[in-house]
Amino acid sequence: MLSNPFETPERKAFRETIEAFVAAEIRPHAFEWDEQGGIPMELHTKVADLGVWGFGIDEAYGGLGFDDPFMRCDFAVAMGMCGAGGVPAALGGRSISIDPIYKLASQEIKDRCLKDIIEGRKQSSLGITEPGGGSDVARMTTTAKRDGNHWLINGSKTFITGGMQSDYYVIGARTGGEGLSGISLFFVDADAPGFSRTPLTKKMGWWASNQATLYFDDCRVPAENLMGQEDYGFLQIVHNFNYERLGLTAWALGMMRVCLEDSIAWAQQRETFGKPMIKHQVIRHKIADMSAKVDAVQSYIWTICAQIEAHHNGEADMPVAEICKAKFFATKALEFCASEAMQILGGAGYLRGNRVENVYREVKVIAIGGGSEEIMRDLAVRQMGL
Ligand SMILES: Cc1cc2nc3c(=O)[nH]c(=O)nc-3n(C[C@H](O)[C@H](O)[C@H](O)COP(=O)(O)OP(=O)(O)OC[C@H]3O[C@@H](n4cnc5c(N)ncnc54)[C@H](O)[C@@H]3O)c2cc1C
Repeated sequence: MLSNPFETPERKAFRETIEAFVAAEIRPHAFEWDEQGGIPMELHTKVADLGVWGFGIDEAYGGLGFDDPFMRCDFAVAMGMCGAGGVPAALGGRSISIDPIYKLASQEIKDRCLKDIIEGRKQSSLGITEPGGGSDVARMTTTAKRDGNHWLINGSKTFITGGMQSDYYVIGARTGGEGLSGISLFFVDADAPGFSRTPLTKKMGWWASNQATLYFDDCRVPAENLMGQEDYGFLQIVHNFNYERLGLTAWALGMMRVCLEDSIAWAQQRETFGKPMIKHQVIRHKIADMSAKVDAVQSYIWTICAQIEAHHNGEADMPVAEICKAKFFATKALEFCASEAMQILGGAGYLRGNRVENVYREVKVIAIGGGSEEIMRDLAVRQMGL
């Protein structure tokens, strides 16, 4: 197994704490929670106690007072190994809305809401994707028009993770003309007049989490709920994607590790043609291929984290192209590992209740969500100046 050349005692301690928590508190129940379609509410506060939603957030709001990309990724890897993708999704819906609230929301909103979100007592979601499309963010059609001391929001968002339970939303809406320069972000309370939501049901996976369609029908929010500068929301959305995508890459790595670990365990104890499967050369090659891909994605993540740590001087310095490339590279590697692991487990893998079956079912949401493989490739090449 590779060792992290950027390891510190603090990172090691954090990772071991997270891994022990996942092993004791999540993994024994993850399958059952996923089948039931939800997680216990107290899991939010228990996970919050680990500090995982406080990276880069001031201690006054319940944050850690420091950031560490390695620790962020170690958390995502551990969650990727928990046994059911719906559980990290149920917990993590809030994670993509925390940075925008911290950086852009009014003081009143931060004082009222942020600590509760970070400490797991309240939930929040980010709403960018619309029924008309998610990849082309610059063409969003939800509008916000100024009306005295309020904004009136009209339109709809869909696939919003945690949307059925969230208390607060960060919503992208068009305040200006067409294209990327006319978009702004808004903070919306769940009890805002004109706001409603319905669940997305019959999903392929992520059962323990909920996804919602949100409706804004002359939804009235105070003028102060505009987040950041009017018409500059696109840039904030794009910056926010960086950690979401790096987190999804690390999550994919956790799922790949599941494929490798469970394949080895199965191949060691299952006998075919008179010997353990692990002694058959074809199986050994599958294990070698999976292991090499795990190492490659892990190395990619560590290098990107080191680059963020060494050069991070605000969002402008994030290695955007590398994050995009790592995400599609990881999800393709994950697809490979999920398929090979299913082959190794054979019929047993097809039955619900084992981690490999869950990973196989959850490959596509990681490959599509937060920026699909096609969009990641396109953006990476554009970042290369081509
Ligand atoms: C379970 C789940 C949870 C989600 N949670 C959230 C959330 O919390 N908040 C949120 O805002 N969104 C969320 N999303 C939405 C997600 O980010 C979008 O699904 C994603 O961005 C793709 O958008 P789309 O589904 O509208 O696909 P489209 O944009 O309609 O694209 C469809 C397909 O065409 C491909 N494509 C599009 N344009 C091109 C092109 N130019 N060249 C080649 N191929 C192209 C895409 O890669 C994609 O595969 C979630 C999605 C899922 C499935």
